[in-house]
Amino acid sequence: RDAQVDDARLVLRVIGEAKLSGGSALNYAGVVKINRDSHGYAAGVAIKDGETGETREIQAGAVINATGSWAEKLHPSPDPGLHLRPLRGSHLVFPGWAFPFPDAATFFHPRDRRPVFIIPWEGAVIYGTTDIDHKTDLSEEPVISDEEISYLMEGLDTFFPSLEISIKDAFSFYAGVRPVLSRKHLAPSKESREHVVWIDKGLVTVTGGKLTTFMKLAGDAMKAVMPFLPQANTLKKESLFRPVSHDIADERISPEILRRLYGHYGEGAKEILNNAGAEDLTFIPGTNTVWAELRYVAEHEATRHLEDLMMRRVRIGLITQNGGKEHIGRIKKLCAPVLPWDEEKWDSEIKNYLDKWRRSNSVHPFF
Ligand SMILES: Cc1cc2nc3c(=O)[nH]c(=O)nc-3n(C[C@H](O)[C@H](O)[C@H](O)COP(=O)(O)OP(=O)(O)OC[C@H]3O[C@@H](n4cnc5c(N)ncnc54)[C@H](O)[C@@H]3O)c2cc1C
Repeated sequence: RDAQVDDARLVLRVIGEAKLSGGSALNYAGVVKINRDSHGYAAGVAIKDGETGETREIQAGAVINATGSWAEKLHPSPDPGLHLRPLRGSHLVFPGWAFPFPDAATFFHPRDRRPVFIIPWEGAVIYGTTDIDHKTDLSEEPVISDEEISYLMEGLDTFFPSLEISIKDAFSFYAGVRPVLSRKHLAPSKESREHVVWIDKGLVTVTGGKLTTFMKLAGDAMKAVMPFLPQANTLKKESLFRPVSHDIADERISPEILRRLYGHYGEGAKEILNNAGAEDLTFIPGTNTVWAELRYVAEHEATRHLEDLMMRRVRIGLITQNGGKEHIGRIKKLCAPVLPWDEEKWDSEIKNYLDKWRRSNSVHPFF
């Protein structure tokens, strides 16, 4: 059996568990330097706020560098023949009606025989992916190219001509960069998805791999870092997510919504339900997202910008028309009580979000 996940929610649940165990998390904070002690051992990091430019030093007994395709910027590969090769993958997101079948579908792309997938996701349908060298500067947001659009549409035209799906039907696209380790520069899809752990005096770098192997990557990184943390307890193999107590029977919602809320928010599901009126326990039209989720993520998940909320806490920006523009009024009403934004700030957040969405996620420039 295969599995499905919202990758942003997976990361946020892991961060949530770390915080419950006493950890701290910072966003918009880039590590610019690994600090070392007089013996050359990693002793912390220098971080820079991506917006204010403010810098800070953080001390630590060891540092784990889990920065994906960017990992070699902080820790060059110790193996001269093996380097990160950023490979871009892009998806198109369509409304559910575009593919009138309930399950996922897959076919081999006629051009190169790579498997591509059409998958119902969060109420919409994602279709992809591509697998090509990402040659753009890694500090810029990755975007889909004309060539990738024509590749993806060619697959649909070949296998589903009767559906007459056009790029104009797509809600959005999104592109990501895979951290793939390459030795021989094979065709992108032939490169191994194995991960590596590099150790350099208290700096442990873990990169490569896949989402499906993230627990293995994390375990290997922890094993590698333990010798540098003599005060730490021995590693115990425990369940990553602490069990949530399913003791809410809420007649206002179906068991499916309850399951979604527990899966996406853990114990936070209770707060979502306690604070929500019945009208906010309904789906945002065309999606599996419940209105009340917005208020919870705005309050608890380090939301600095509207873009955080729309794209990376929930996925409304990807799975609705025009980046969810028509829903922003109601979202503002729901979230304004828990966000410290005045009217002027809301106006600039809405403008900046929609401008960024047009540049990074809209398919309109492609027709
Ligand atoms: C299109 C696509 C489809 C995929 N499909 C699948 C799939 O079906 N199944 C599967 O298992 N895997 C899939 N993957 C792979 C999976 O997404 C990656 O393996 C996974 O994201 C790697 O996680 P990571 O945390 O190591 O790196 P990333 O997810 O790349 O995260 C690294 C993070 O580090 C941050 N960062 C970079 N530099 C710094 C710095 N100096 N300081 C602080 N932070 C920094 C970056 O902003 C980023 O947020 C897919 C990937 C793509 C792109």
